[in-house]
Amino acid sequence: MRSKLVVGNWKMHGSRPANADLLSAIVAGRPYTGEVAVCVPFVFLGDTAVQLAGSDIRWGSQDVSAHAQGAYTGEVSAAMLAEFGCRYAIVGHSERRQYHHESDELVAAKAQAALGKGLTPIVCVGETLAQRDAGETEAVVKRQLSAVIHQLAHCAAEMVVAYEPVWAIGTGRTATPDQAQAVHAVLRAQLQAATGNATQMRILYGGSVNAGNAATLFAMPDIDGGLIGGAALKAADFITICRAVT
Ligand code: PEP
Repeated sequence: MRSKLVVGNWKMHGSRPANADLLSAIVAGRPYTGEVAVCVPFVFLGDTAVQLAGSDIRWGSQDVSAHAQGAYTGEVSAAMLAEFGCRYAIVGHSERRQYHHESDELVAAKAQAALGKGLTPIVCVGETLAQRDAGETEAVVKRQLSAVIHQLAHCAAEMVVAYEPVWAIGTGRTATPDQAQAVHAVLRAQLQAATGNATQMRILYGGSVNAGNAATLFAMPDIDGGLIGGAALKAADFITICRAVT
């Protein structure tokens, strides 16, 4: 049976003293039933690695370069992230697709770069409100996932997928458990057809998960935990969400 996973996506938030307090609280909140990780800004990875060393809380990045090395100013390679003990790398977050114009193909290349250095890519997919209203949700998420499946080929079963409807991210408007489950079932069927091993793969839900709604979302059969934005910055809320995993 697959284990549950809750990942905090800190986005571009935090400071060294505030992070130290937040991480201390998360560590003190153990034990958790499922796996817990935090994806922090690149510059905080060193501190995070030191503070979480020896705990079972894992950490990762919010992006990774598709390139191994070279003249790519501002980018950070998977090998560099591995040096800092990262377990996960988020790729294809909707904010990167929207503000940095990341294509499905680039997201797939980033996922492959992460896997190549032993990091597990957390591949985000999700539709905009206009796409949902147009009845395109299934086609959009399948297209986004298909690019990654194609690129990873026989390693596709090693990724984590996060379904994050764009209209639910940071808006306070969460997908209902039934809405989320319906898309997760579609994604699992697609993964099963591609890998033959989707019963072991984790599909997270993200989009305005909070301390009050996490348990009902995580109770759905194809929701294996969450990717948490805003609520991951408040220790008490994040701990409650981590404990909502059964
Ligand atoms: C996210 O950014 O991945 C996210 C899910 O954000 P929020 O929980 O704030 O909606």
